[in-house]
Amino acid sequence: MAMTAANGTSVSIQNLSLNFGAVTVLETLNLDVANGEFIVLLGPSGCGKSTLLNCIAGLLDVSQGRIFIKGKNVTWEEPKDRGIGMVFQSYALYPQMTVEKNLSFGLRVAGTPKDEIAKRIARAAEILQIEPLLQRKPAALSGGQRQRVAIGRALVRDVDVFLFDEPLSNLDAKLRAELRVEIKLLHRKLQNTMIYVTHDQIEAMTLADRIAVMKGGVIQQLDAPQTIYNRPVNRFVAGFLGSPA
Ligand code: ADP
Ligand code: MG
Repeated sequence: MAMTAANGTSVSIQNLSLNFGAVTVLETLNLDVANGEFIVLLGPSGCGKSTLLNCIAGLLDVSQGRIFIKGKNVTWEEPKDRGIGMVFQSYALYPQMTVEKNLSFGLRVAGTPKDEIAKRIARAAEILQIEPLLQRKPAALSGGQRQRVAIGRALVRDVDVFLFDEPLSNLDAKLRAELRVEIKLLHRKLQNTMIYVTHDQIEAMTLADRIAVMKGGVIQQLDAPQTIYNRPVNRFVAGFLGSPA
């Protein structure tokens, strides 16, 4: 889906900078993500992908600039008030809780009514095909199953924006390919906004509506996968993702 005025802006990042001490990790970065768009942040390790995602999630304070979600300035809002769900590389499940409790925990804390919680868990479990796993604990799950549960935890929150930080990088190649397809189908079904961090070119090419190629805290190019592949704007982008020509 292309960024158009018709479908509106979901996440707008304006002149965002972030410094750790004297080191500038993100530099006056701008990014507008359309409602329902799948954006991939792609770049080598250390280029600032996770930092940018954590700023959007509210897990890091920005040094400068503003972040809007659904038109609301959330730059200084608590993470829980931003209407986002986040899935990390490490599964971050509660080991002592069953899958069902892992899925319901955040909702219970937020005071969501019991029948509503049950409804949302049933829906997420069906979409992610984890119904048979609900009474198990994380230790009894495979890596792929755990990551499905982690996605489920974002899903039950019923948010507009999903943030993924290298959710598949701990999985073996076969599972990675499988879950990649599932995430794509999930996006088709939910049609929500997804911002997905990876350093994997294939993941970026297959998942993204648009790819933001990052280097040194700066977005080098933001375009559809085919455009980036065929018309990289500079040698770095070409070397990282473009055609060999
Ligand atoms: P990526 O996710 O693209 O691999 P990160 O966003 O994790 O990159 O990191 C970007 C840069 O910021 C790196 O150089 C990293 O060393 C630095 N960095 C990340 N977190 C911190 C921190 N808490 N304190 C100081 N430097 C950090
Ligand atoms: Mg990272």
